[in-house]
Amino acid sequence: MAETLVTGGAGFIGGNFVHFWNAHHPGDRVLVLDALTYAGNRSTLAGADNAELIEGDIRDTDLVERLLRDHDIRTIVHFAAESHVDRSISGPDAFIDTNILGTNSLLKAARAVWLAGDGIAHRFHHISTDEVYGSLGPDDPAFSETTPYAPNSPYSASKAASDHLVRAYHHTYGLEVTTSNCSNNYGPYQYPEKLIPLFFLNALSGQALPIYGDGMNVRDWLHVEDHCRGIEACLGQGKPGETYNIGGGAELPNLTVIDTICREVDRAFEEVDGLAERYPDAPAARGEKSEMLKTFVTDRAGHDRRYAIDETKARRELDYLARHRFEDGLRQTLRWYLANEDWWRPLLRS
Ligand code: NAD
Repeated sequence: MAETLVTGGAGFIGGNFVHFWNAHHPGDRVLVLDALTYAGNRSTLAGADNAELIEGDIRDTDLVERLLRDHDIRTIVHFAAESHVDRSISGPDAFIDTNILGTNSLLKAARAVWLAGDGIAHRFHHISTDEVYGSLGPDDPAFSETTPYAPNSPYSASKAASDHLVRAYHHTYGLEVTTSNCSNNYGPYQYPEKLIPLFFLNALSGQALPIYGDGMNVRDWLHVEDHCRGIEACLGQGKPGETYNIGGGAELPNLTVIDTICREVDRAFEEVDGLAERYPDAPAARGEKSEMLKTFVTDRAGHDRRYAIDETKARRELDYLARHRFEDGLRQTLRWYLANEDWWRPLLRS
């Protein structure tokens, strides 16, 4: 039976996608290829019974070719990447290696296996980001699929290069590709270096909540489950060679997100038994407000001011619409972290 290859499936979005696919396509087998970098975690895949994890690197073209042949892979969903902008500023090389060379390695393997002889029906779906479009002013129209690329960080530049390679393999060799450019994801299993889990866990341990600049940088927040549905729609209805923007319909300044996190932490301490004993250093454990931990720090170098997604095309062609309201999705996410300390606690020590 043909299997689906998910690269980076032990990471945040890839892991959620594996669980989503197992739940919605229980007859399908999923093969996860993941190098288990600091951001990859075996335990993210616990309970995904139809998935098998291969620990390996997407830059190993021979390995990828072997997996495509041995497992009769017809679909690749490519998440594997270095994904944290701050890390790309302090060390861009890993981003060039994995995001550009790694994507090229996968494309080469797919071309060699799928396009040989009479060819095999296939799909290569590439996960990209809205950050490739650069930064918007307050009144600029949202990014559409035809917005020119203008990446500003080593991370977004490496993703932009990978998007171009995916496009080129379609136009040059006829590889059947689709690409989705999504906005900021949030949800379960997100590594606690990203804003929402970092601020939530800091609030639980009474540590500062470091806000870049004036906190007014705007992002469009997308619940990871909505993103998974968007990818499913790209695989089902997306046309080869096309790109689709997937957003969450929740354009918010960071400060609003942080204030919402603070309120939700305070509320959780009122509603969930035993939190004051589990997290005695949290202001909320003493009846104080989490917002007292807010601290403004020097802005990130080259910090993009605003991202916004125009998802008209995904709505029209894929019937995609985000279902999660931000406040509800955030509360659900924070409650997931409270219920799954076994998942995140070891990551704080790594
Ligand atoms: P993540 O950092 O949580 O996970 C990345 C995964 O890729 C990890 O499991 C890691 O071990 C694996 N990996 C890294 N290098 C590898 C290599 N050379 N070979 C094999 N595996 C490797 O990232 P994420 O947040 O889940 O993002 C997934 C994808 O979505 C990325 O392509 C990212 O650019 C894109 N994206 C993410 C967001 C977001 O908000 N998180 C937004 C837009 C786009």
